[in-house]
Amino acid sequence: MITIKNLSKRFEKLEVLKDINLEVNSGEVVAILGPSGSGKSTLLRCLNGLEEMTSGEVTVAGSKVNTNDSKKKQLKAIRQIRLQSGMVFQQFNLYPHKTVLENVIEALLVVRKWPKEKAVEKGEALLARVGLAEKRDVYPSRLSGGQQQRVAIARALAAEPEVLLFDEPTSALDPELVGEVLAVIKELAEEGMTMVIVTHEMEFAGEVADRIVFMDDGIVVEQGTPDAFFKQPETERARKFLKKM
Ligand code: ADP
Ligand code: MG
Repeated sequence: MITIKNLSKRFEKLEVLKDINLEVNSGEVVAILGPSGSGKSTLLRCLNGLEEMTSGEVTVAGSKVNTNDSKKKQLKAIRQIRLQSGMVFQQFNLYPHKTVLENVIEALLVVRKWPKEKAVEKGEALLARVGLAEKRDVYPSRLSGGQQQRVAIARALAAEPEVLLFDEPTSALDPELVGEVLAVIKELAEEGMTMVIVTHEMEFAGEVADRIVFMDDGIVVEQGTPDAFFKQPETERARKFLKKM
């Protein structure tokens, strides 16, 4: 579902991603762990074109972006990837002046040009799925952080993406609200959704992920099953990281 080949990313002189190679299979849940500043967010952002790659190639759901291709070809592929992937951010990023339902169906109406009635029906079903059917006409500011994040997940699901990308979806939440968001993500995992999740929730990563990818300083240091990674990390860097968490 996702193939990353020789991906490098520089900001000016700072090399943030160094020749990353990674694959994610259909239906697989991959958790990306690593210290702050190791390049996790940049990697996710390169996956859906929010960040321009310096060199390399990413393929998501069959659409390939290669930095050797013309800008035009790359942009076309990025547009395609955005249609086939959903992203959930730490800071929810909901539209404050739109209701919950309007937030969820915005892309269906504007990007996909669905008729209003069909979009509303879909939006209501998605809100029911994340347990927020009764909040459809409320504005985001009236919701808890956990509820806002569940709306963001419903919105990411609206386009029926092949892949969901999460960047620390619970980091901005009060501890008592983390569980409800993780529960929704866990359900998606059980339904077979392909997901890449950057998280600091070790226990959650251990429960939900098929594979842990550990990054440090712009490289994939090691990867393996949660069991192997948490019980017997291969590298000193991973051991050090786990000890701190
Ligand atoms: P992580 O998500 O693992 O904490 P990031 O991908 O956000 O790491 O950042 C990796 C490195 O890239 C950091 O040193 C960060 O300061 C730098 N960085 C991220 N975005 C930018 C940017 N837009 N311009 C310059 N440096 C950036
Ligand atoms: Mg980050």
